[in-house]
Amino acid sequence: MTYRPTREHDELRAVVRELADERIAPRAAEIDSSAEFPWDLKELLAKQDLVGIGFEERHGGTGLDAVAQAIVVEELARADATTSLIPIVQKLGALPILLAGSDAQKDQYLPRLASGEWLIAFGLTEAAAGSDVASNRMRARLEGDCYVLNGSKRFITHGSIANVVTIFALTDPAAGGRKGMSAFIVETATPGFAAPRLEHKMGIRGSPTAELTLDDVRVPVENRLGSEGDGFKIAMETLDRSRVLIAAQAVGIAQGAIDAAVEYAAERRQFGERVVDFEGIQFMLADMASQGQCSGPAVLDQQRQAGGRRHRHASHDRCGPGPGRLWLHQRLPGGAHDARREDHPALRRHPADPAPDRGAPAPPAERRPGVGRRVREARPAA
Ligand SMILES: Cc1cc2nc3c(=O)[nH]c(=O)nc-3n(C[C@H](O)[C@H](O)[C@H](O)COP(=O)(O)OP(=O)(O)OC[C@H]3O[C@@H](n4cnc5c(N)ncnc54)[C@H](O)[C@@H]3O)c2cc1C
Repeated sequence: MTYRPTREHDELRAVVRELADERIAPRAAEIDSSAEFPWDLKELLAKQDLVGIGFEERHGGTGLDAVAQAIVVEELARADATTSLIPIVQKLGALPILLAGSDAQKDQYLPRLASGEWLIAFGLTEAAAGSDVASNRMRARLEGDCYVLNGSKRFITHGSIANVVTIFALTDPAAGGRKGMSAFIVETATPGFAAPRLEHKMGIRGSPTAELTLDDVRVPVENRLGSEGDGFKIAMETLDRSRVLIAAQAVGIAQGAIDAAVEYAAERRQFGERVVDFEGIQFMLADMASQGQCSGPAVLDQQRQAGGRRHRHASHDRCGPGPGRLWLHQRLPGGAHDARREDHPALRRHPADPAPDRGAPAPPAERRPGVGRRVREARPAA
């Protein structure tokens, strides 16, 4: 593993964390219990240039590099998983356009998606086609200058709130899903398009996961992405380029859970002592911390290597044991790290542990223009 954060990446993380702690985390419990999409936070991310993190500047996006995108997702997910899906799905849904769209299609759709004015969804999965994408059954029949789409999709994130969905459907059923599937840009205001049902999930509940039905939905030929039969390839390349951000989301959710556990263990007292002082609790927290230390950098390294290109699965990467004990110590609330190190013999630094970085903290940044754009603009010219 070769990933080392740059100064810009550290600054980006600090600024997004501050924003997420102040404005997003306080809303997280209510978003999950109400299962309502947080439109206000979508607006917040749009104002801060954090919706279009996966879009290039020429398309109105922030133009953050691949690692920076993962850092933004991690920090948003640490505060609220639902909110972190906003930039993820914006990129997921738009990737087929980025990969296979014509200049006219890109000009028409990408700026509105990058700015957050429009939301997009990615419509691949069907009831009988999950991992087995080639089993898709949705049909797209050519009639004059339109394709007529019929069928249903399942598990489509943001499917009920999106303005546009990239949809995969069979243009040549005889050729099967691998060779006979095509991709389309479908505007959800088109007659015949509906989202009749949402999944009831155990988490990420503010993010609607919709069933979609398309009943004689007429899509102009110019909304086909690439050539007929390109759909399977476009779908696979889209998944290749978007999976690591889902892994970054998982890392962020885990980090949020670890931080909450450490904070609670340091504040909760039993038998006259903080429960964090009990060795059994320290073992558990150290295990959580070392797993987090392993997976976070592994995901960022995958994203760095991918750079938006084909990548190996993050789980295939090996990494050495992380200094979980040191990590836990550094995160104990109160900030007096060295004093606490002395307070907790079990947390004292092992001679083999790396010394903590005592570099000056990143200077506080202004809020305008948006976080994403500021970090991009601060980057030295290549
Ligand atoms: C919250 C959520 C949001 C989603 N958002 C979207 C979205 O926006 N757009 C979209 O298109 N889809 C979306 N999906 C669908 C997601 O991509 C599918 O769930 C996924 O492709 C797996 O399909 P499945 O759930 O039908 O599982 P299945 O394919 O039925 O798999 C069931 C189990 O069998 C295992 N399995 C399958 N094949 C093999 C094999 N060959 N060898 C060994 N094990 C195997 C799987 O790993 C899994 O454990 C979403 C799903 C969820 C849960």
